[in-house]
Amino acid sequence: MPDPNGFLRYDRRLPARRPVPVRISDWREVYPPAGEELIREQATRCMDCGIPFCHDGCPLGNRIPDWNDLVRTGNWDAAVESLHATNNFPEFTGRLCPAPCEAACVLGIGGGQPVTIKQVEVEIADAAVARGGLRPRPVPAPTGRSVAVVGSGPAGLAAAQQLARAGHAVTVYERDDAIGGLLRYGIPDFKLEKQHIDRRLAQLAAEGVQFRTGVDVGVDVTADQLRAEHDAVLLACGALQGRDTPETPGRQLRGVHQAMAHLVAANRVVAAAGDGRPALAVLSDGTPIDAAGKHVVIIGGGDTAADCLGVAHRQGAAGVHQLDLYPEPPQTRDAARDPWPTWPWVLRSYPAHEEGGERVFAVAVQEFVDDGTGQVKGVRIAEVSVEKRDGRRIVTPLPGSERELPADLVLLAIGFEGTEQQPLLEQFGVRRNARGAVDARPDWQTDADGVFVAGDMHRGASLIVWAIAEGRAAAAAIHAYLGGVGELAAPVDPARQPLAAR
Ligand SMILES: Cc1cc2nc3c(=O)[nH]c(=O)nc-3n(C[C@H](O)[C@H](O)[C@H](O)COP(=O)(O)OP(=O)(O)OC[C@H]3O[C@@H](n4cnc5c(N)ncnc54)[C@H](O)[C@@H]3O)c2cc1C
Ligand code: SF4
Repeated sequence: MPDPNGFLRYDRRLPARRPVPVRISDWREVYPPAGEELIREQATRCMDCGIPFCHDGCPLGNRIPDWNDLVRTGNWDAAVESLHATNNFPEFTGRLCPAPCEAACVLGIGGGQPVTIKQVEVEIADAAVARGGLRPRPVPAPTGRSVAVVGSGPAGLAAAQQLARAGHAVTVYERDDAIGGLLRYGIPDFKLEKQHIDRRLAQLAAEGVQFRTGVDVGVDVTADQLRAEHDAVLLACGALQGRDTPETPGRQLRGVHQAMAHLVAANRVVAAAGDGRPALAVLSDGTPIDAAGKHVVIIGGGDTAADCLGVAHRQGAAGVHQLDLYPEPPQTRDAARDPWPTWPWVLRSYPAHEEGGERVFAVAVQEFVDDGTGQVKGVRIAEVSVEKRDGRRIVTPLPGSERELPADLVLLAIGFEGTEQQPLLEQFGVRRNARGAVDARPDWQTDADGVFVAGDMHRGASLIVWAIAEGRAAAAAIHAYLGGVGELAAPVDPARQPLAAR
């Protein structure tokens, strides 16, 4: 029986982050472990409110009150079991999820302090490692059926693990040189150290999942070859088509890059250094990726922009501006606009924002300024108002508000336009819809029979928790398609949307 008064005795507390000067001198994670005393205290704040809205906030349906109480009572092994019943990779979500569950926590009503659900989750995930490691589950007798998973991000990996545990032979195809999708080279080490991925991959391999890296499906192997070798195919290729701004004068200048080009290259340097390998520290056009001593301008306000900010500081940037088209959001939930338990529009500050840099809201770039040699030297911005008319976004510059910011390096982190246009799509007979995503039927099959889709490729650029949830659900559909015995867990259907005020 949970403690009904815990939240009256204890305030919400998170572990202290490592000091800024220390953490920007390395690439290690920002948060140290919380310690057992703090985490049991915080789990005690969950009062098991009867109707756990946090379950609806979490796309995985994580059994949050159950494992909070198990942590409160020090029952760590059972907490590990309970958490893994719904989430294949809590070490990823516990570190990286923006925690829509916390926005839906009953303790947050009326501006209260929700339970630190995400922090409890990561501590349970790490306890699993500390208490004997991520042991492979025994898998049943082989079914004789085989599945190809294309793409090794959290969607593909969650599906692969579910299917292997049901006795199917699973091969994951990844065009990159390492498994993990955006977790591997998209998300910097200071948010997710890569040992967490490697540990999980060892578990999947021991459960029978085969990994084939350096294989671009549609180029190195054809769709027909894959269909001939496997009984079903899951496409989990992500939504990696970066949005650009070709119409902005000066876009072609040296030093103006897609954020992902810079970020991935920077993360590869860190990975290479960790392995003692030499790293290629230039982009494909020969530009050095180092921000050391440079004035950096990051355009965009989301995860990618914040990750670029953290990277720029660790590389020793002279100064960083982060530009956002929209006005500064409020600090607290506007209940008229976003009533509890929906996800509120509020100012989100990441640990990277404590590390320096200036955020500039309600501005748009008018021109990337040439230094006379084809290299960017500045960014001319104007204050703007933004409104929606007939579903279209209208951006209006305010006359006389223009000014120039110094810039040697400009990173475009203005979002993604869906999954990439690539040969694989045509070969499988699958189309991108108006959002650049691939539609799924209610059973997760695409227009092509026996070819399923999950994760960002289906949903558009989203979150790790959604990718895992969709990977699990698509695996359940594939298991049924293959005539597997029993049912696998399917936390979401393809039409499921985040909690919203209707
Ligand atoms: C910089 C950045 C930071 C982020 N930070 C967060 C965060 O803090 N928290 C959060 O919840 N979410 C975050 N996200 C979003 C999150 O990473 C994604 O939603 C999630 O990774 C999607 O998982 P996925 O498996 O669908 O695809 P991905 O992780 O994108 O993986 C797709 C994989 O498919 C491979 N692939 C594509 N085509 C082929 C092919 N033809 N053959 C073989 N392989 C192929 C790609 O190489 C890639 O490895 C972030 C995203 C970015 C870009
Ligand atoms: S996965 Fe995300 S939404 Fe679900 S319990 Fe963890 S932090 Fe909350």
